[in-house]
Amino acid sequence: MNIIDRSKPVLVTGGTGYLASWIVKQLLDQGLEVRTTVRSLAQKDKYAHLTALAVKSKGVLQFFEADLLRKGSFAEAMAGCELVIHTASPFKISGIKDAQKDLVEPALEGTRNVLESVNATESVKRVVLTSSIVAVFGDAADIRKTEGGVFTEAHWNFSSSAGHQPYSYSKTVAEKLAWSMVGEQSRWDLLTINPGLIMGPSLSKRTDSTSIDLMVQLASGKFKTGVPSGAMSFVDVRDVAQAHIRAGFTPAASGRHICSAHEKSFLDLANAIRAGYPQYPLPKSFVPKWLFLLIAPLAGFTRKYVRLNVGYDVRLDNSYIRRDLGMDFRPFEQTITEHFQQLLDDGIIKKR
Ligand code: NAP
Repeated sequence: MNIIDRSKPVLVTGGTGYLASWIVKQLLDQGLEVRTTVRSLAQKDKYAHLTALAVKSKGVLQFFEADLLRKGSFAEAMAGCELVIHTASPFKISGIKDAQKDLVEPALEGTRNVLESVNATESVKRVVLTSSIVAVFGDAADIRKTEGGVFTEAHWNFSSSAGHQPYSYSKTVAEKLAWSMVGEQSRWDLLTINPGLIMGPSLSKRTDSTSIDLMVQLASGKFKTGVPSGAMSFVDVRDVAQAHIRAGFTPAASGRHICSAHEKSFLDLANAIRAGYPQYPLPKSFVPKWLFLLIAPLAGFTRKYVRLNVGYDVRLDNSYIRRDLGMDFRPFEQTITEHFQQLLDDGIIKKR
């Protein structure tokens, strides 16, 4: 059990990211001293939204330059911190050219790099790592091999590799490494937050986050003829940020935490948007699996992926995070509507 001193700075890696920006904001709103890393301090436009937030908040924010693949680059930002929240990791599920280089190395070696600095920084008492439900299971079809048909924190992804579901593989090997490194010492402890697909308003106008891209593509009419069937896990970005902070400051909390609020299909997602914005060319039905199998390579998916993922309803047990961190989750419709409205307000989706 580690008690974190709230007067000490908190390090959040990858502050430019969709999720990390919300973690930084919530920490600042609590009046804390926050440090965050960015890949390049020169690219001010990537973190201008955080600078603006800091001015309006009770807290203090400092930026540091660090890259997951540059050894020791997180050390300066970490000096004097008791709590490290490590979120930086590439999140890409399509358009991947070299999975090893683009996903696995930054996730795995980046985690090793950050945790080696944690080992070398005497002040650090706790690390909260952003993992994912994709470290819990690989293909949706794995649900059939799961006792009780529900994934829990006891499960691990056994079916992904650098060649099949590389993002899921990158998150799995990174989380496994973290658990093995924490076991080699006793000064700092480790908690992981394993979110489902994160949705909800973004604090920046970036569109290259996979979560944001999904909304943009739905609104564009790209999936007008239909979406793949099957229920997946969704959670609001603000709730995921809160879970990280609670994990940091709840002394008795421990272990992995499935952070999943709702099990919904892409059609449920489209319907939630349609309720508020009926003028957009949103899908109204599922694409039959045989048709999706046929067109998979054109849509950027392998047939193996479609075979093992389309049409399965994933079920996750979120009772541990509710108990251990006292989490409750926003309604799905609120998350989706507020996300869509933010994209309209920021001009990322055109008004109709
Ligand atoms: P995001 O907006 O793409 O943020 C990713 C962050 O990682 C960015 O700050 C990015 O920096 C940083 N990063 C990537 N490669 C880096 C490198 N080589 N060195 C330093 N920083 C690097 O994605 P996100 O959705 O917020 O994801 C944040 C975390 O949540 C990730 O660990 C992801 O796996 C996890 N997660 C996300 C979801 C989801 O649905 N979004 C679900 C479960 C888990 P740049 O701005 O410089 O690119």
